[in-house]
Amino acid sequence: MIRSHLFHALTRDQITAFAKSGGAVVVPLAATEQHGPHLPVYTDSMICESVVTKAVQLAAETVSLLMTPMLSIGCSEHHKNFGGTLSFTSTTYLQMLSDIGNSLVQCGFNKIIYINAHGGNEPLMQQAANDLAVKHAVWTASASYWRIASEVLHEYRMTEAGIIPGHAGAFESSMVMAIRREWVDEMSFKKDHPSVSWIGTGVPGTFVGKHGILTGHDGYTDSPIGASEEKGQVYIEAITSSLVQWLKTVLHTMKEPPDEQ
Ligand SMILES: [Zn+2]
Repeated sequence: MIRSHLFHALTRDQITAFAKSGGAVVVPLAATEQHGPHLPVYTDSMICESVVTKAVQLAAETVSLLMTPMLSIGCSEHHKNFGGTLSFTSTTYLQMLSDIGNSLVQCGFNKIIYINAHGGNEPLMQQAANDLAVKHAVWTASASYWRIASEVLHEYRMTEAGIIPGHAGAFESSMVMAIRREWVDEMSFKKDHPSVSWIGTGVPGTFVGKHGILTGHDGYTDSPIGASEEKGQVYIEAITSSLVQWLKTVLHTMKEPPDEQ
């Protein structure tokens, strides 16, 4: 009998039985990196832990789902110059995600889902998930929370949410205020912080990299002024319910056995 939706709360035999019965596993991915002068470096991890834990708990009431411990250090090479950042290089991080996936396959899982809360992890997560499905007879899925919730978050885009997700701007500041207000240094909120404008060519999918631009001015993308605990609560609830819906849709897609080759 499974007594928790947490992988780390179960015994090896419970995990094996769960995996063999076709249950899925979610791997939450986050970061520990500088978030400007006003937010804790654990911001992405706090947001990830808050929304993914709750979403898995809710989804697990109707679908067969476990969540592994969150990987709270990610690929944050572009933030290292600001200090306060722990990071794996992209090659190491890709290898780690592959190793975690391979471990889960060896545990008996054939449905492996990565959910991400940090931009720098996204392309590597997708690559690792695709590689895993090529290598093994398994289903995989991967997405970042702001994409899963993009439709519902879109309505806040025109308001004071700032850039979504941005980096350490009003959007993330609101959520950290809602999760643990005492970790936000509101005295360091700067009113006149310029919003970053990404460099584009007008062709979707084009990425233009320019040294320094990737982190926004002074390491953050937009002013946290306008952030509030109440807005953060609204964003967290909107993201959580989108994640629940997405998990159910993904697992519905995975209902056939993965193709053996
Ligand atoms: Zn962040």
